[in-house]
Amino acid sequence: MKIPAKMRSFCPRCNKHTEQAVKIEKAKQRGGGMNRGSRRMKRWTSRIGNHGRYSRRPIASRNMTSKTTKKVDIRTTCSECGKKWIKSRPRARRSEIKRM
Ligand SMILES: [Zn+2]
Repeated sequence: MKIPAKMRSFCPRCNKHTEQAVKIEKAKQRGGGMNRGSRRMKRWTSRIGNHGRYSRRPIASRNMTSKTTKKVDIRTTCSECGKKWIKSRPRARRSEIKRM
């Protein structure tokens, strides 16, 4: 997927269409990868003995290799107010910023 380096897009802060610079960032996990389930798992596996449901092997569908695409975090920066916006998070095999 090719993304243009600059695009004219709507800025909710300026309340009009402005020229915006596009940047690709690495997609982050929500909560920094420490959600309720992983906190509970850390508490369980820190103890001695059987870890209950966390002793089981992970199921095959949860393996990272099952998906062939990666999420792309496309963010734009407004040239007038300097505010950053999350444009979209599509899935793509490869993504690059197209230079004019
Ligand atoms: Zn703006």
